[in-house]
Amino acid sequence: MEDTFSGIITFLILLLIIFFLWFIPIWYGLKWAKIKKVSKLWMLFGIHPMTGWIAYLILRYGIDPRKQCAKCKESIKIEAEICRYCGNQMSKEDINFAIKEFEKRKNSRIAE
Ligand SMILES: [Zn+2]
Repeated sequence: MEDTFSGIITFLILLLIIFFLWFIPIWYGLKWAKIKKVSKLWMLFGIHPMTGWIAYLILRYGIDPRKQCAKCKESIKIEAEICRYCGNQMSKEDINFAIKEFEKRKNSRIAE
């Protein structure tokens, strides 16, 4: 009787560990996708815990933050001076503003 009980406990603890290993990268990956304004579809890799971690690390460290072009609404690099979709020219102030907004999102991610 006691063996069954400790067996169940061990099983539950294992399940909990797997759950956390699996959901931590998805949770943080989605947050970073939002902060960087990158597509959340990246976290479809979270279907598997291993690729989920890889996708999260790429999202966090490997991808440049994005901004939206004011004219065509396409997602472009945050430092871009010219939109690669519509050729819209952005002023230095626009770029600085986008970077500031990004920093704000980054710093407030814990408060959310
Ligand atoms: Zn554009």
